[in-house]
Amino acid sequence: MKYRSTRGGVSGISFTDALLMGLADDGGLLIPDHIPDVSHSLPDWRGRDFVQVAQTLLKLFIDDLEHDDLDNLTAEAFANFDTPEVVGWKHLDGLDVLELFHGPTLAFKDVALQLLGKLFEHVLADRGERLNILGATSGDTGSAAIAGVAGMENIKIFILYPKGRISSLQELQMTTVPDENVQCISVSGTFDDCQRIMKSIFSDLQFKAAYSLGAINSVNWARVLAQIIYYAYASLQKDCESVDFVVPTGNFGNIFAGFIAKKMGFPIGRLLVATNENDILDRFFKTGEYSLGEVFRTNSPAMDIQVASNFERFLFYHFDEDANKLCSFMEEFAQSGKASISGPLCSETFLSCSISQAETEETIAEINSKYGYIVDPHTAVGIRAASSIVTDDPIVCVATAHPAKFPDALGRAIGHRPSHDRLSGLSDLEERKQEVPADEAEIKKVIHNFTAPA
Ligand SMILES: *Cc1c(COP(=O)(O)O)cnc(C)c1O
Repeated sequence: MKYRSTRGGVSGISFTDALLMGLADDGGLLIPDHIPDVSHSLPDWRGRDFVQVAQTLLKLFIDDLEHDDLDNLTAEAFANFDTPEVVGWKHLDGLDVLELFHGPTLAFKDVALQLLGKLFEHVLADRGERLNILGATSGDTGSAAIAGVAGMENIKIFILYPKGRISSLQELQMTTVPDENVQCISVSGTFDDCQRIMKSIFSDLQFKAAYSLGAINSVNWARVLAQIIYYAYASLQKDCESVDFVVPTGNFGNIFAGFIAKKMGFPIGRLLVATNENDILDRFFKTGEYSLGEVFRTNSPAMDIQVASNFERFLFYHFDEDANKLCSFMEEFAQSGKASISGPLCSETFLSCSISQAETEETIAEINSKYGYIVDPHTAVGIRAASSIVTDDPIVCVATAHPAKFPDALGRAIGHRPSHDRLSGLSDLEERKQEVPADEAEIKKVIHNFTAPA
């Protein structure tokens, strides 16, 4: 399998090159040359456990690592989860909750980032290279990425996050990691500022090469690839023709993986984009207009995003893989803050719904009193949105984080703050972080100071 860029300027590169390139060198996003079709072999896939599904699936997209090595890395990556099935299930009336928060940092991002850490370590050792990972986080990516690579010898990691806009627990999950290869950077700005600066640094190809920069955000194809696994696995567990998924969405990375799983032929029906009050995607799917709004702070902060980086991948397929059409759309959006496609898009595949903060907390309370089950605010956005779907097919709502990560919102909703062993005691540990203005040059300076140019 070869990889190419959505913008047409990179093509024919291997999986490991795509892994290390992160953002494509032409400013686009890397995608596979073609999407493998599994629709005729579904009976063979059923009955496999999570790790076996992962191993089989990854080999369809990765042909430049030894198969045995890849199988071993995959098994190791999922050994750190607190359940052998890797994911968990909770059945509510008419709705199955797919818990993706059983990894080390209690968010779905662990599924991909545990695997990415192993892949990076293996590929770098093989090539005798080092990597400096630069990432931006709206809360959960940072700790999951750090947990994926902490202590690895050939990797340093720099995480940008918006100061005061992630929960204090989320911040502690990053800043208390003692390993010296970890640098947490608190930026005076929003997540969109962090993401914009990160993208801009990656597009400075000279700097990127001089400092061997790599990406762990979902701009990295390997993140999306790893996330396809649980859509495939979950859809196969339901013995039916098609399953609808509801996905709490920010950067469109998670739900985009569901879209690829559907394109591959796994039994997936519709995908519901569930957003909070930051509703750029909901507006897009209802009207066809992608227009920048103001970023609101909400009780589901991992979705406080306006510019969804993975949306470009979806648009590429929407434009029938025409890089020129995609480039004009992106250019228009970059210049004017909005761009449109003709006609509304709530189509066969995508539905969308935006949920308010009040509805989110109401839903947490309702699910708790009805089922004695506690969900985090992101998952609650999804569950609330799910009630807008009319279907006879099973509905799976993706639970993206453990409720203990968001004690304040939970306290307001249900009157107590859930806890988790993996989070208690963090505030007693020593914190390490740097505060930096939302300025590209300042952030480059931090990277320079902690690395020797390769
Ligand atoms: C990152 C995150 C999301 C959003 O996922 P995207 O891939 O950015 O759409 C939703 N919920 C939680 C808890 C997250 O950490």
